[in-house]
Amino acid sequence: MKVFFDEKFLQIYAGDPAAVPGRLEYAFSLLKEKYSLVDPVPCSREDVLLVHAPYHLEYIGRDESVYPMAVLAAGATIGAAESALNGEAAFALCRPPGHHAGPDSCWGFCYFNNVAIAVRKLLVAEKVKKVLIVDFDLHYGDGTANTFHGDPSVSYYHVKGSNPRVFFDNLKEYLQSGSAELVAVSAGFDRHSEDWGGYLSTTDYRETGKILGSFAKDTCRGRIFAALEGGYNPHSMGEAIAAFLAGLEDGL
Ligand SMILES: [Zn+2]
Repeated sequence: MKVFFDEKFLQIYAGDPAAVPGRLEYAFSLLKEKYSLVDPVPCSREDVLLVHAPYHLEYIGRDESVYPMAVLAAGATIGAAESALNGEAAFALCRPPGHHAGPDSCWGFCYFNNVAIAVRKLLVAEKVKKVLIVDFDLHYGDGTANTFHGDPSVSYYHVKGSNPRVFFDNLKEYLQSGSAELVAVSAGFDRHSEDWGGYLSTTDYRETGKILGSFAKDTCRGRIFAALEGGYNPHSMGEAIAAFLAGLEDGL
């Protein structure tokens, strides 16, 4: 397991809940003990344009504090995706998140769609033909869904369910018919019992990781990566990320 992380992600780049001081420090302190850290490289303008309209790129590009972080987060996610393709599962511990960023608009603390950019880049390079994106954030990733609407090479699945039982039933049922050459995960931790959603435990995140890891092992030789989306309680998010990655390793 590789973790793509840059200390720049600890900086404050905006005034939204994903950008608050201290959001990633605890997660970083847990992951650095256990995993090899890889420095991400910012993605290029061409990479952004794989998903976003030129005027959206220009619009975000005018924000001197957001733009460098947004291209670094997308770059971290591209790195994680390439690592997965090369046989080692990976996680991008990054911000800003991305799943509410669509081709020509964004909201919900997102600017560029990290997971969508990484997936599209691999598809365009013909490194992979069929990708499944599983999003277990509390919120529906409308930006990701809009990006790949009508694209037969990508399936986007947001796990529904407002309690753990329904959440796991839905996830397992969907995966029974799922297929892919690569699994991408929009990993949001805001359903945690100590976060906005208030109903998944840290152990539930470990189980989620195990289910997804074992699905990837059975369907695509373990080619799976994840990138951070939501999660607003730094402590529970740190614990949940560590649990999710441990579960992922169990499943693989
Ligand atoms: Zn969310």
